[in-house]
Amino acid sequence: MATDTLVDDIYRMIDTKEIPDGVPIEQVINDFGENMKQILRDNITEHEFDRRKLRMSNIGKKDRQLWYSYNGYEGEKLLPHTRIKFLYGHLIEEMILALTKLSGHDVTDEQKEAEVGGIKGSMDCKIDGVLTDVKSASPYGFKKFKDGSLIDNDPFGYVDQIKGYAHSEGVTDVGWLVMDKTNGHLTYLKYDMADESQWYWSKLNFFSIEERIENIKKVVESENPPTRCYGHIPDGKSGNMKLPVGCSYCAYKRECWPSLRTFIYSNGPRYLTYVAKDPNVLEVDADGIEIQK
Ligand code: SF4
Repeated sequence: MATDTLVDDIYRMIDTKEIPDGVPIEQVINDFGENMKQILRDNITEHEFDRRKLRMSNIGKKDRQLWYSYNGYEGEKLLPHTRIKFLYGHLIEEMILALTKLSGHDVTDEQKEAEVGGIKGSMDCKIDGVLTDVKSASPYGFKKFKDGSLIDNDPFGYVDQIKGYAHSEGVTDVGWLVMDKTNGHLTYLKYDMADESQWYWSKLNFFSIEERIENIKKVVESENPPTRCYGHIPDGKSGNMKLPVGCSYCAYKRECWPSLRTFIYSNGPRYLTYVAKDPNVLEVDADGIEIQK
């Protein structure tokens, strides 16, 4: 089997309930249950996470973000609902992996350790031999995987992260199996780093992951933070300026943008860096407490 048919095979399996011969169904179900238990356990028990350490999972982050975390800045605390969102994401990812196995596809190398230039991490898995990250995404995030444009818009650094694992494994085929968490749609995006005929090839190979890692090591040791990762952008035609997506999700946004104001719109918070006209919606402070006006 190959990843090209993976999504169709999962859809067919869940629709027809026909599981290919040879799939150890009970084993998959039991492993799924055990992994769900572990995810919940990890999310409700204290465990130390050293943000100052460079890991494969964060080498795709922007230089300035890495500088702040490496240099001990605490950044914003995750809000309770954000923690639930992350927990829910992990549970979804585990479910997708179980469905992959039940559809007859081969899942190997789960959580295998990888290392490049002294930086370590653990990959999600390989599916049918292709190094694969399993993700859940919002409809907006899902679209980039569906249309293949992730390489052009990757604020969370998924490409660099998987390039690190690929280098460690000596492979060139990489992919993302992604579920839109609002409607259950699945997609599989595959990039072949060795295929020069692909439109994305030069972008994917613009720099090697070894160069990236050597550069990061220098950046985080520098005395001052590097320049901001993004500029602010107009908020429609209001005259206000807001943070772009990459900064909105960043824990260090209040370090970078000290006069930031947060307004709660129906589609989520909007972070304004400059307010020409006060929005007619609730404003909250950095702790999410309503500001009375
Ligand atoms: S807030 Fe924006 S500019 Fe500042 S570190 Fe985060 S992503 Fe970079």
